[in-house]
Amino acid sequence: MTTWNFSSGPAILPRPVVEKAAAAVLDFKESGIGVLECSHRSKRYEPVVASAEARLRKLMGISDEYAVVFVQGGASLQFAQIPMNILGQDDVADYVDTGTWASKAIKEAKLFGKVNVVASTKKEDGTYSSIPTGIKATPGAKYMHITSNNTIFGTQWKQFPDVEIPLVADMSSDICSRVIDVNKFGVIYAGAQKNLGPSGVTVVIVRKDLLGKVDRKIPTMLDYKTHIDNGSMFNTPPAFGIFVLDLVLQWLEENGGIPAMEAKNKAKAAKLYAEIDRNPLFKGTVDVADRSDMNVCFIPVNKEHEAPFKALGLERGFVDFTGHRSVGGFRASIYNAMPEAGIDAMIQAMQDFEKSLA
Ligand SMILES: *Cc1c(COP(=O)(O)O)cnc(C)c1O
Repeated sequence: MTTWNFSSGPAILPRPVVEKAAAAVLDFKESGIGVLECSHRSKRYEPVVASAEARLRKLMGISDEYAVVFVQGGASLQFAQIPMNILGQDDVADYVDTGTWASKAIKEAKLFGKVNVVASTKKEDGTYSSIPTGIKATPGAKYMHITSNNTIFGTQWKQFPDVEIPLVADMSSDICSRVIDVNKFGVIYAGAQKNLGPSGVTVVIVRKDLLGKVDRKIPTMLDYKTHIDNGSMFNTPPAFGIFVLDLVLQWLEENGGIPAMEAKNKAKAAKLYAEIDRNPLFKGTVDVADRSDMNVCFIPVNKEHEAPFKALGLERGFVDFTGHRSVGGFRASIYNAMPEAGIDAMIQAMQDFEKSLA
C-alpha cells in the first residue's frame, strides 16, 4: 500500500533524496565508509557545506550583504539567539503573535530587551485563526518579528508587514515553498525538518550589518560571528543534516526552483481547500484569506465523524494527519515534497467518507 506522509515535522522528503541519502549512509562517494562515519574536515565531506550554502543563495536570491550559517538548537534556540545578537538591553523589538511558535519567540526575546507585541490574533480559547493586517512598527524599534507560516494553526502571511524596519522571520515551515524578497528581511531562520531536510540543522540567513552592535557578552557558540567566520565549521556541524539539506536543494534546482514549487504548492492547497469547502461533512478552521499552503487544517462538522474518518485515513495509508491537540480534527501538511497524488488520495478519502454516510 502506498503511504502518504502528512506529518507536520520531521516531515516528508523527496523520494530521490531519501534514496541518495540512504546510499551515502552505506558508502559515501565510493570511499568505503558512510557519510555518518566520515570527518567533517575530510576532503570528501567539506565541500558539502559550501555547496549547500551556494545552492541556497542561488535558489533564494540571497545577496552578499547576508551571511548564511547552518547551526544547531532548532528554531527554538533562534528565539533567544536572535535577540541576544541584535537586540540591546534598552532596545525595542516589535513582535507579532500569530501562534504557539510566535509566543515562544516573544517569551525568549523578553530576556534580552524590550518587546512590544504590536499585534496578536490570540483568541479567548488560546487558539489562533488569522493573520493581522495594518501593522505599524514602533518608532525606533530594531526589527519586527513574524512567523511566516503558523504550522500548528494553519495560517500563513500572504503579504508581509509593510514596515521600514527589518523583518525577522521564523520560516521553519514555509522556507523555499514560495518566492520571497530576502532584502525585506534582517534575519530569516528555519529548522530544516519541515521543508528542507532532517531535524538537527537550522538555517540562519542574517544581514551582516545588524551584527556587532550590542554590548553584551555573547557565548562563543551563540555568537553568529563565530559561525560566519568559520563557514559553519567552528565545531562539528550537523554533518548529515547539511548533507541531506544539500540534496534537497539540488532536488529543488532540478525541479524548477522555488517559482515552480510555489505554483505546485498553490495548486495543491487550492485543490484540497476546495474539497473542504465543498464537502458538507468538513470545514476549515481559519480565515479563508489566511489559509496556509503548507499545513491544511480541517475539522468534521459533526464531532462524531472524527474517529471514523481517522480510521478510514489509516486504512488508506495516511500517516500523521490528525490536527494538533489544541485544534483537533485533521491537519494535512503538504510541504514541497508532497506530490499532487497525495492530495488526490486525501480528497478521495473525504469523498468516499461522504458517500459512505449518504
Ligand atoms: C517546528 C517549528 C518550530 C520549532 O522548531 P524546532 O526546530 O523544533 O526548535 C518553530 N517555529 C515554527 C514555525 C515551526 O514550525
